Amino acid sequence: MIDLNNTETAFKIKSNRELKNAGFLFSMIKHPFIVRTLGLMSSLALKIKFPVAWIVKPTLYRHFVGGETIDECFPSMRKMAAENVKSVLDFSVEAAVNEKDIEKTFQELKHSVINSGKHDEIPFSVFKPTALTMHNILKKASESENSLTPEEQISYNNFVQRFDELCAEAVKAGKPIMIDAEDYWFQPAIDRITENMMLKYNKHSAAVYTTLQMYRHDRLDYLQYLIKFAKENSIILGIKYVRGAYMEKERLRAAEGNYPSPVYSTKAETDRAYNKALEISVENHDIIHVFCGTHNEESIVELMQYMKNKGLENNCPTIHISQLYGMSDNLSFNTAKAGYNVAKYLPYGKIKNVLPYLVRRAEENSAIAGQTARELIMLKQELKRRKTVKK
Ligand SMILES: Cc1cc2nc3c(=O)[nH]c(=O)nc-3n(C[C@H](O)[C@H](O)[C@H](O)COP(=O)(O)OP(=O)(O)OC[C@H]3O[C@@H](n4cnc5c(N)ncnc54)[C@H](O)[C@@H]3O)c2cc1C
Repeated sequence: MIDLNNTETAFKIKSNRELKNAGFLFSMIKHPFIVRTLGLMSSLALKIKFPVAWIVKPTLYRHFVGGETIDECFPSMRKMAAENVKSVLDFSVEAAVNEKDIEKTFQELKHSVINSGKHDEIPFSVFKPTALTMHNILKKASESENSLTPEEQISYNNFVQRFDELCAEAVKAGKPIMIDAEDYWFQPAIDRITENMMLKYNKHSAAVYTTLQMYRHDRLDYLQYLIKFAKENSIILGIKYVRGAYMEKERLRAAEGNYPSPVYSTKAETDRAYNKALEISVENHDIIHVFCGTHNEESIVELMQYMKNKGLENNCPTIHISQLYGMSDNLSFNTAKAGYNVAKYLPYGKIKNVLPYLVRRAEENSAIAGQTARELIMLKQELKRRKTVKK
């Protein structure tokens, strides 16, 4: 088994200064009070344009974001690619409020998809469906498409058409496209459209990847449904597996709406479902291409073991491992060194648009006390190792 905690490999592309800054950042966000204040400040920033750039840009933004534009991401992308860690450029944008915003976002996403075809450092493109439609329309379409008014139906049809156009561009670019998973009440429409896109574009290879949030207790059944769907229609499934980013929100909403929470009640159940989905996918690797998005070391170890049991090479081209930029470099760089296909999600966008993403990262790292502590220990270990080597 490979050593996933080798800090020399994990932080090879980071300068001492960058490691110290990261250490400072993680030691701050481990305090829930600081993260709560940040959440409050970011809400204010979005509501009353309260300036937060001076504090966010040199800290959270620099650590978790590639830059404001694709061009600004290139230096980070190239450094990672030199160590066989590739990038998935993830455009961050505010929730759409009108057609003009949506069209602007669509053009940037199209640019990002076309760009993926031009660079070896970018093996996939990705988009968030809510960036391309208004929330109320996606929610209504998820309940029942028939409930849309004629005007809403036009808007929804435009959404489906743009969704399709991005998938078609990805096929032209020769790089698969991933559809992010979102809140439970938007997901039925997203799943429906993504299945249609897989039907249209995944005949010979997985050009379109859906996302399964394994904290949802219906997702293992949905995976079985997708396998049947793929067999019946002779297509290849592309699946990004994540645990799910909106647990608190989902539980709160379910309690308020008086329906059962869609999320497992314990972390252990989510972990089991996540690993089970990986096992089923490797078992069916002839019809499922896997993108394993996690910072959970145990899940990565399980995946490696399933691959080995199945006789698959580390660099099996249909299996990718992924972490978010700024998180768990030990997993990304050590697995890449061992030959696995690795790509980090690299967000880009203006500070105000990236703020909700940054707050989520801070909250997540604050909540996962163990993970933050591990990051801190590894950063310190590496700084110490470098000092010793110099002597
Ligand atoms: C490359 C990549 C792409 C991603 N894309 C998406 C996406 O499209 N949509 C999306 O929603 N998220 C996405 N995420 C975020 C992801 O869903 C997780 O929030 C995040 O990765 C933390 O989970 P983990 O597996 O890394 O780590 P872990 O620390 O092992 O797991 C934390 C996660 O476990 C679950 N959990 C924690 N406590 C409980 C509990 N008490 N009961 C039940 N479950 C619990 C939650 O999902 C929580 O986020 C992505 C993450 C990565 C790395």
